[in-house]
Amino acid sequence: MKCIVCVKQVPDTSGVVAVKENGTMDRSAMATITNHDDMAAVEAALRLKDETGCKVIVVSMGPPPAEGMLRELLAMGADEAVLVSGREFGGSDTYATSQILAAAINKIGVEQDDIVLCGRQAIDGDTAQVGPQIAEKLGLPQISYAEKITLDGNALTVQRQLEDGYMLLKVQTPCLITCLKELNDARYMSVDGIMTCYQKPLAIFDYQALKDDPLIDNDTIGLKGSPTNVYKSFSPPVKGAGMMLEGADKATVNQLVTLLNDKHII
Ligand SMILES: Cc1cc2nc3c(=O)[nH]c(=O)nc-3n(C[C@H](O)[C@H](O)[C@H](O)COP(=O)(O)OP(=O)(O)OC[C@H]3O[C@@H](n4cnc5c(N)ncnc54)[C@H](O)[C@@H]3O)c2cc1C
Repeated sequence: MKCIVCVKQVPDTSGVVAVKENGTMDRSAMATITNHDDMAAVEAALRLKDETGCKVIVVSMGPPPAEGMLRELLAMGADEAVLVSGREFGGSDTYATSQILAAAINKIGVEQDDIVLCGRQAIDGDTAQVGPQIAEKLGLPQISYAEKITLDGNALTVQRQLEDGYMLLKVQTPCLITCLKELNDARYMSVDGIMTCYQKPLAIFDYQALKDDPLIDNDTIGLKGSPTNVYKSFSPPVKGAGMMLEGADKATVNQLVTLLNDKHII
């Protein structure tokens, strides 16, 4: 059994966001972090490793500096890392990204009892499309929005978050699950992990390594293979201050109901 975890390095948007003249984010001018949901996916895989001894392989598509993030994940306890990187992959939208990541996962190989984990959503692209698209391309059953995962023989019981509750689903391996950051608190790197992370295997999959996969050709990857075009980038208008109603009396409640009625909210 192995867990393959897709991890994206994203700009740290908690600080100052650098914006280019054309309105797009200047990624090279910003600090990077590991996407929060993906940290939960890595931790979920490491907990399955603690339970079963399975192998954990972390996979990221990104520029060469993403190797630093992968080394940190190896120091947390992952066994192997794969960096998918190449000029041919640049400019990929979610369709092309999932095409390339699916080809990388095909190259690693998915066997009967394997699990592919993704974050639910990346904090920069924010589409939540890549995980489900990888599952489609690999023909794997998928469960998204996982807030709890329990191994149950060769099946997994997954609690899937809904707006007003949850669903409990059982899925056979091999499968793909997208994880919420609420799933767990990721562990820190251990001292031993830091000492050994540079001895663990880190493979680079470039275009040459993936080009024989049927999912990869010039029309399905990079800018040319991306059906999405960025039409315009802009910051949303700043919202006006909200209205505060104070008081716990009937008149305040009536005022609130009138306001909500006026806005057709109730
Ligand atoms: C026309 C166009 C051009 C673009 N060009 C570029 C570009 O040149 N450079 C660039 O950085 N971005 C580019 N992007 C953005 C890029 O397509 C998305 O960031 C990427 O496809 C992932 O989508 P997302 O961020 O919405 O991920 P989501 O679908 O929200 O991510 C869900 C999960 O999928 C997995 N995942 C997503 N991306 C990766 C990854 N790269 N590696 C491993 N796992 C991953 C993670 O587990 C993540 O939590 C471009 C987008 C468009 C539309």
